[in-house]
Amino acid sequence: MDIIINSLYSNKDIFLRELISNASDALDKIRFLSLTDKEVLGEGDNTKLDILMKLDKEKKILSIRDRGIGMTKEDLIKNLGTIAKSGTSAFVEKMQTGGDLNLIGQFGVGFYSVYLVADYVEVISKHNDDKQYVWESKADGSFAISEDTWNEPLGRGTEIRLHLRDEAKEYLEEDKLKELVKKYSEFINFPIYLWASKE
Ligand code: ADP
Ligand code: MG
Repeated sequence: MDIIINSLYSNKDIFLRELISNASDALDKIRFLSLTDKEVLGEGDNTKLDILMKLDKEKKILSIRDRGIGMTKEDLIKNLGTIAKSGTSAFVEKMQTGGDLNLIGQFGVGFYSVYLVADYVEVISKHNDDKQYVWESKADGSFAISEDTWNEPLGRGTEIRLHLRDEAKEYLEEDKLKELVKKYSEFINFPIYLWASKE
């Protein structure tokens, strides 16, 4: 994890590209399922296939929420929970031989780029087949999962809350975020909204 963080450090912005791309993948998955089974979309806000980013300047939290397919408890463990993914060693190897680190997403380890800007990460997720869970992790690679009995119900989808490092405060600025969203959303087929709290 340290190797990944240190090597990508001058390129911190890419965490947003990776999160937008994961949100978009999750939305694609539910949309695909809905082609043969309309019921999977549910009703009301759950039918809106969009991405919502929020800034909490006071708490220094940047969150990104999608109404995609969501993750079951098992998915959270399997997909986010382990640094021992096959792509990790391939990526580290590539990096040590001078590869283009910008390509982290291609190694299936793009999610780890959140630790470039956050030292504490919460992932709240609701999949149609399971209850809502919170996965939380510090940058040391450890994580914990619990059934979510305190946050607002998501309906369906995933919210990633990044508790930003002191060195990553720039991502609490609306202009900076807008610029990045613009840059990374060019090929994203879902609307992205940005909410910012008043100072
Ligand atoms: P990749 O996207 O290349 O598979 P990542 O490290 O970016 O690798 O993400 C790992 C996995 O975590 C994804 O394959 C997906 O299963 C899961 N995941 C990440 N973000 C989300 C999300 N917003 N909604 C649903 N699943 C997600
Ligand atoms: Mg990804």
